[in-house]
Amino acid sequence: MNFEEHAREKMVRDQIQRRGVNDPNVLAAMRIVPRHRFVENDLQSMAYHDRPLPIGFDQTISQPYVVAYMTEQLQLKPENTVLEIGTGSGYQAAVLSQLVRQVYTIERFQELADFARKIMIQLNYDNVQVICQDGSLGLKNYAPFDAILVGAASPAVPQPLIDQLKIGGRIILPVGGSGHQILQRIKKLPDGSLETEELIPVVFVPLRGFYGWHEDDWK
Ligand code: SAH
Repeated sequence: MNFEEHAREKMVRDQIQRRGVNDPNVLAAMRIVPRHRFVENDLQSMAYHDRPLPIGFDQTISQPYVVAYMTEQLQLKPENTVLEIGTGSGYQAAVLSQLVRQVYTIERFQELADFARKIMIQLNYDNVQVICQDGSLGLKNYAPFDAILVGAASPAVPQPLIDQLKIGGRIILPVGGSGHQILQRIKKLPDGSLETEELIPVVFVPLRGFYGWHEDDWK
């Protein structure tokens, strides 16, 4: 086992399993995806620490536990198609790519989208498509989705995401403002109605765009 593989084993054991994530497929994905490749060179030594890390543009790659927890809560199946909003480094999308057939991920910053696209090619994660646009509008052309993961805090669940979710599908997203967000899981039931569960308090950067936070309201 090389240094990074060893660091990932320890990360999974101490940060993720210990806090109760136990889906074997999620744990396997967290052991495989080389998180250090998704951060700048000078931060690689911290890639497996129990914390988020800066990725430029005032954005962050989420803490490993939060990535694993959100992924587990989506209850994914191998044949699923997943939409992610907020590609950032691409790490969360890469974890999802290990568990499902196809991942579409949307990022508003061109530079971050380009970085993520490049690393997916380097790592041969060929079931991830990175798109640069306003993800709060969803991705109508490829809808409906089995699951949608939003990696940025939203004032409420964007209506397009509800519309683009299959019956039986799941959305996971942080709802709230700066410093007071709750991770929510929304399920679309057979009659089309929604079931909302509040999971854990979290800290995310804001979702911007049409259904996101507008500059002055994020406090
Ligand atoms: N999941 C990422 C981290 C997400 S950080 C990872 O694994 O690294 C949140 C990201 O959401 C940031 O990159 C930010 O630019 C992006 N974002 C915010 N609002 C957005 C929007 N409306 N559409 C697309 N991306 C958005």
